[in-house]
Parts: sequence; structure tokens; C-alpha cells
Amino acid sequence: MTPANFDFHCHSSVSDGLLPPAVVARRAAANGVDFWALTDHDDLGGLVEARAVAEEAGMRFCNGVEISIEWNGVPIHVVGLGFDAANPALVGGLTALREGRVERAKRMGDALAAIGMPGIYEGALTYATNSCLISRAHFARYMVSIGIAKDVPGIFQYYLTPGKPGYVDHRWVSLQDAIGWIEAAGGVAVVAHPARYKALSNSDMRRFLGDFKDLGGRGIEIVCGSHSPDHVLHYARLARHFALHASRGSDFHGPEESYVDLGRLPQLPEDLKPVWRLIA
Ligand code: AMP
Ligand code: MN
Ligand code: MN
Ligand code: MN
Repeated sequence: MTPANFDFHCHSSVSDGLLPPAVVARRAAANGVDFWALTDHDDLGGLVEARAVAEEAGMRFCNGVEISIEWNGVPIHVVGLGFDAANPALVGGLTALREGRVERAKRMGDALAAIGMPGIYEGALTYATNSCLISRAHFARYMVSIGIAKDVPGIFQYYLTPGKPGYVDHRWVSLQDAIGWIEAAGGVAVVAHPARYKALSNSDMRRFLGDFKDLGGRGIEIVCGSHSPDHVLHYARLARHFALHASRGSDFHGPEESYVDLGRLPQLPEDLKPVWRLIA
């Protein structure tokens, strides 16, 4: 079957999405998605529920995850698709990654306390459905709730992005480890939302994609919630140059917090090889 509407990037409340996996699955189906992956940050805990509801609703489903990595000190996200979710290297690697997130979140809390905002880590935790998976999005939601800014983007802009008082450096996993875990588990590694890495120049991006490909990465998101039509053209050229398969994903987090809704995306440029072809 050739999918007419695949969406391989979105989040549930297992990471920093607002809706439980079953609700995200039903929403994807209602929006006409016919091949779907749930890609929570650094956690596989939603996949069983997502698959069951997706298949009940008539969608094809593949396992997904969005892994937080660093490359030359720059935080980057790599989506894994179609892997065996019981693979010990992948499961163990993600467990360590989540522990690192908790430690980082405490340091973020300390950094905010130092500018006169105590208790933010504890407050952010109350916004994390999964206490093992805490993200800057949970900090932002809690900080909006206590009136520090009027919305989540405002909190990111003034407190949670590089150079701002609540942002702390963190050692994520290496590109090599993330690709290694995904591919060893029989999956496909995909560069998430490439236009969002403002710290990478054009030549850095080309070097990154060269490393990604050399280490076994096989895909890149071309059509995604945060890409403009110009971004699509630009990254389609890079996908052709590096012979990468093309992915498509909304990066949906919740009805009020997303660029686009599940499945509501343009089609991929026709000549690109869609990444679903690599997934059994
Ligand atoms: P973390 O993985 O903890 O660094 O948090 C990153 C998450 O925060 C992303 O996956 C988004 O969900 C959210 N996020 C990042 N930047 C922004 C922004 N400028 N506005 C709103 N949400 C953002
Ligand atoms: Mn997120
Ligand atoms: Mn991301
Ligand atoms: Mn995402």
C-alpha cells in the first residue's frame, strides 16, 4: 500500500506532548493519517498503546522515538523509526539519557533560583506526566501558569534558550551512539527538523549530514511542521546530494502548542524517496 498521508513525528504525554498516546492516535486517524509513528523524546513508553489504537483505527504504525544528541556541542534531534523497541542497547541508552534529563532539569531549577525564581524545577515536575521525562516544555508550561510570561514561546524567548538565565549546557548522547542504537535495533535514523538548528551554518549542516550518512543515518525530514516552502526546497536539494530518504512529520505536541496538526502537511517533492519505503 502506498501511504497517501504519512506523519512520522509527533509527541504524547509520555514526553512533552499534551495528549495521551491513544488520543494522539485517534486524532491522527481522524485527520486522515494512514501511516503513523509516535516519536516521543527519549522514551518508548507510549508505543504499545499507540500501536494498538492506531491499528484499531485502521492506520499502519511504526515505532518511533526522537533522540536528543549533540554534534560538535550543538544539540540536534535524530528520529528513529521502525526499530525493535525491546533492543537492549536502545532501551539502555534511552534510560541513561532520561537520567541525564532529570539532572539537567535540576540544574535549570538552580539557575532560575539564582535569578530569584525558586521552586521552578518542582513546579515543572507537576507538569510532567512521566516523571522520568522532563523537558523544557514542562518548565515553560509551569512558568506560564505562575504568570512569568503570557505564553510558552515567550518563556523560551526570555528564559530557556541559549544565553538566557534558565538555559544550561548539557551533554546529550553522541550522533554515533544514537544512530548505532537505532540501526542495531533494525530501525532507520532520520535528521529531525533540519532548519531549526540556528547554531549550524550552511557548511556546518553539510558536514553534519556527511557525518550522519557516514555513521549509517538514512533519512532527513523535508516536510515538517516548522519548515517553510523555502526550507522544503533547500533540504530537498541536500537530501538528493547526500542520497537520503525523505521524511514528513508534523511535530505535533498538542492542539494549542503546535505549528500544524497531525497529517496536515504538504506532500513531499515527488522525486524524493520517501522514508516509509525503508520500513518493513
Ligand atoms: P528539551 O528537549 O528539554 O530541550 O526541550 C525541547 C522541547 O521544547 C521541544 O521539543 C519543543 O517541544 C519545545 N520547544 C523548544 N523550543 C521552543 C520554542 N521556541 N517555543 C515553544 N516550544 C519550544
Ligand atoms: Mn518537544
Ligand atoms: Mn525536536
Ligand atoms: Mn519533536
